[in-house]
Amino acid sequence: MDSDLWLECINCHTKFDAKKIIYTCEKCGHLLDVKYGNLEKAIDGDWKKRPISVWKYYPFLPKLKQVISLNEGKTNLYHCTNLSDKLGINNLWVKNEGENPTGSFKDRGMTVGVSVAKSLGSRVVACASTGNTSASLAAYASKAKMACVVFIPSGKIALGKLAQAMMYGAFVLAIKGNFDEALELVQESCERFHMYLLNSLNPYRLEGQKTIGYEIIDQLNWEVPDTIILPIGNAGNISAIYKGLLEWKEIGLIEKIPRMIGIQAEGAAPIAEAYKKREKTVTFVEKPETIATAIRIGKPVNWEKALRAIYGTKGLAETVSDREILEAQKMLARAEGIFVEPASASSIAGLRKLIDNGEIDRNERVVCVTTGHGLKDPDTAIKSCEEVTQVQADITDIEKTLNKILSETMKIYAV
Ligand SMILES: *Cc1c(COP(=O)(O)O)cnc(C)c1O
Ligand SMILES: [Zn+2]
Repeated sequence: MDSDLWLECINCHTKFDAKKIIYTCEKCGHLLDVKYGNLEKAIDGDWKKRPISVWKYYPFLPKLKQVISLNEGKTNLYHCTNLSDKLGINNLWVKNEGENPTGSFKDRGMTVGVSVAKSLGSRVVACASTGNTSASLAAYASKAKMACVVFIPSGKIALGKLAQAMMYGAFVLAIKGNFDEALELVQESCERFHMYLLNSLNPYRLEGQKTIGYEIIDQLNWEVPDTIILPIGNAGNISAIYKGLLEWKEIGLIEKIPRMIGIQAEGAAPIAEAYKKREKTVTFVEKPETIATAIRIGKPVNWEKALRAIYGTKGLAETVSDREILEAQKMLARAEGIFVEPASASSIAGLRKLIDNGEIDRNERVVCVTTGHGLKDPDTAIKSCEEVTQVQADITDIEKTLNKILSETMKIYAV
């Protein structure tokens, strides 16, 4: 790694060598940020002319001898006119992170995180995961020829994600506990067994994830949206996007930073509850519960960075119910042809609620980040839809059924 890079505590600002394997400040225990000297140099670089991808933004990422990549990033930004008509706003975009190689934005973090692990000489990587982190880490570990150990909450991860971690060849430990317990245990295990930790506590992972914000602005032809809405689980992503945009603003590449809005499920909402009381610390939730398993987290490790993102941009945090999440998931799929997993749909559910509350103006330019692919969790999708119609393998039975279905469909379109 280059010498122009260091780790810095977000609380006491102590600096640490970038090559030191630590995840929190050795002095005060708070979170660390990756810091760069001389980002100004990047203003006039040739990078701007390259096609978008995570590594397009290399001047804002650690410089590494070897990069482990599966061609992550460059996800589509959809102009969602059907959905915005339904919701009564004028300018809605969806950044669909489910289009990454393993189906979630975690790949952006892992291309950087696993490349750093490799360059530091680590041979085993590990994480605790509600599913997507393990799927992503397992894939990048394969590519990097490293061993991978993942801790998952037993019985609480979506089927598609489990299938991925197993297929990519990770050692999967199903912990009889929730995600928060799994995270504490993997941290301790990493220390004892010298495995490299790749949860979002790891500041290098957030460096990769900040490129979501960079791509959005790039895709909007360098116009900054008014608002970015995304789900919050462990709170790494909202912190990462904010950090990246702050770095661009500080060197003058952009003039403003969008309002950062985080959405949590009602049963797992420590950050939204803190925001509603305008508090500067959060009270953890002991038994988080929601159908959106990717954000079923009661002790978000990045809470302190997330509150800075929210307060620092005059943003906000809101809660949505499981019912609202499932409705939004279906609405996005049926209005725009975009199928996302429940946690991702919380950004759409949140948008809907905030329009109703008057917190979002109809003329705002809004970008919702949908974080993971719908096929990750087929069980929840099937349960929340109407049953399929069974017919005989016989044209008269089909005719009878279609006559009924089509006349009803026509009625819907006639309204
Ligand atoms: C990881 C994840 C989240 C939560 O992101 P954080 O950075 O932990 O806040 C949300 N949605 C999906 C699909 C995820 O995989
Ligand atoms: Zn400190």
